[in-house]
Amino acid sequence: MLKKILTAKHRGFCAGVERAVEIVEKSLIKYGSPVYVRHEIVHNKFVVENLKEKGVIFVESLDEVPQGTNQPVIFSAHGVAQRVIEKAKNYNFLFYDAICPLVSKIHKEIILLEKQDYQIIMIGHEGHPEVEGTAGQLQDISKLTLVQELSDVDQLYFPSDQKIAYITQTTLSVFDTQEIVDALEKRFPNILAPKKSDICYATSNRQTSVQEMAKTVDAVFVIGAFNSSNSIRLVETAKKFGCKYSELIENVDNFDYQKLNQYQTIGLTASASAPEEQLNLFINRVKEKFSPEVIDFKEDEKIVFKVPNFLN
Ligand code: SF4
Repeated sequence: MLKKILTAKHRGFCAGVERAVEIVEKSLIKYGSPVYVRHEIVHNKFVVENLKEKGVIFVESLDEVPQGTNQPVIFSAHGVAQRVIEKAKNYNFLFYDAICPLVSKIHKEIILLEKQDYQIIMIGHEGHPEVEGTAGQLQDISKLTLVQELSDVDQLYFPSDQKIAYITQTTLSVFDTQEIVDALEKRFPNILAPKKSDICYATSNRQTSVQEMAKTVDAVFVIGAFNSSNSIRLVETAKKFGCKYSELIENVDNFDYQKLNQYQTIGLTASASAPEEQLNLFINRVKEKFSPEVIDFKEDEKIVFKVPNFLN
């Protein structure tokens, strides 16, 4: 019988997600609807559906936005390639970039590395919008090599006089990425590392919180989205650090609460793009069936990214 729910110390919306959603909401107030957003503003369907109800139209391509519109177009928190910005300018769109400042930092890094003639290894997941946006900062895409897993490092070859650097996606597993970095540094002792880890504070804090609870609970449940990198990493982190069972819950309405009966203590967290309301809803649903003690460890991360002044 379920007796306890422990919630993660660091969880839920990060500063980049808060800022991106606020940019969209303030644009709706300033310009009225519709506001166009290219790609899901953050990877979470509750956030997306909520914004749709308020008058946001989500598109995957700028070609879907009506030509000649005076309504704003917003780019998602994941960042976009330079060619997307050029296209928005060519189409004369009023556009705002809701890119997280921590992704923006990586864009600046990769632009500088290309100027300095480095061959750049990006540790990340092919097809993820952040990787596409970062790769799209390069003038010459052949300067980039994507490494997705440890075994990819063995396949790399560069001439001995080639300068090499690496960068990473912000939402990777801290632990798996360290293994890849160690292998890269062993293979290429002169490889240039970012000055400060590209994996962001929110990803790192959420994974550490799950790591801390993994051995003390019977199962870990992560509120998040199936297409969200940082959500999937939290499920993996729980397993990696000794939790026998972990699961990603995209929709708390479709969850089989009865199965919690087999556990005494569960850990609960929400990814950087998952609203706290979903976590609270989950707890309320559990309480309808069981009477667990809920121990809330939540701590404020005290990091805020301001929205651009012109939207205030
Ligand atoms: S997960 Fe990290 S990089 Fe992504 S929006 Fe949040 S703070 Fe920014």
